[in-house]
Amino acid sequence: MTALDLPVPAEPASTQPIGLCLDCGYALRGLPTPRCPECGRGFDPLDPATMNMGRELSPLAKWVLGPIRWEVNWLSWGALAFALWSARQPGEELARSGGWLILVGLAALWLAWPFVRVIAARKYRWPHSLLMQGQKLRVAVGLCFLLVAAAVHYSLPMKAAVKFSRPAMQKMASDLLASGQAYADDQWVGVYRARRIKVVPGGGVRFTVEEQNRAYKSGFTYLPKVDPKKVGWRNKSYRYVGDGWWAWREEG
Ligand SMILES: [Zn+2]
Repeated sequence: MTALDLPVPAEPASTQPIGLCLDCGYALRGLPTPRCPECGRGFDPLDPATMNMGRELSPLAKWVLGPIRWEVNWLSWGALAFALWSARQPGEELARSGGWLILVGLAALWLAWPFVRVIAARKYRWPHSLLMQGQKLRVAVGLCFLLVAAAVHYSLPMKAAVKFSRPAMQKMASDLLASGQAYADDQWVGVYRARRIKVVPGGGVRFTVEEQNRAYKSGFTYLPKVDPKKVGWRNKSYRYVGDGWWAWREEG
């Protein structure tokens, strides 16, 4: 008898999975060894406690119920860091343009996710223990988005950045005023890249931080002799940030 003469199995391998992988939700069927091919977790085909006996998930449900993807996680923290870094600018573009509302929207998505998971888990009869995985992290990321949105709205990153950078800004301004020159080279002052640094009338110094954007420019001006309480130009594009410094913004 040759190999070709071997009898064909009487019935085709069942297409129904015996269960789902507890870690990754992979549908366990037709496997030569009792080990998940996706993540390597072992299971016992005869012991339902070693498997997730819920229904197989649609791709969307898999995404909702599965673990937090590292891409999603890192993109979120990256977006938060980027928002904070952008909001340090004197132009306050994120707060003015309503960009901070995008952060509120992302917060809402993260905070709604645990509830969507509860609904999906009920539908797919997933065990509660699996459902709770990563729920705290989802809530934490959502709350971080809310906090950053509020901070951006109230210009807290800019205030903190000014506070941090002020000694360097002060030194740069004092050095330029003492040198008798009218201009200084581009340089970093704290977290700001200062360009077009120049002496302005009244014993002050002005520099530009943002100018690559065609819609507006922004920067800081040092006017130590101007009393912010008495100043007449309560112009929206000038905002006093303390110790003689003003954040300015020019449209167009
Ligand atoms: Zn698995």
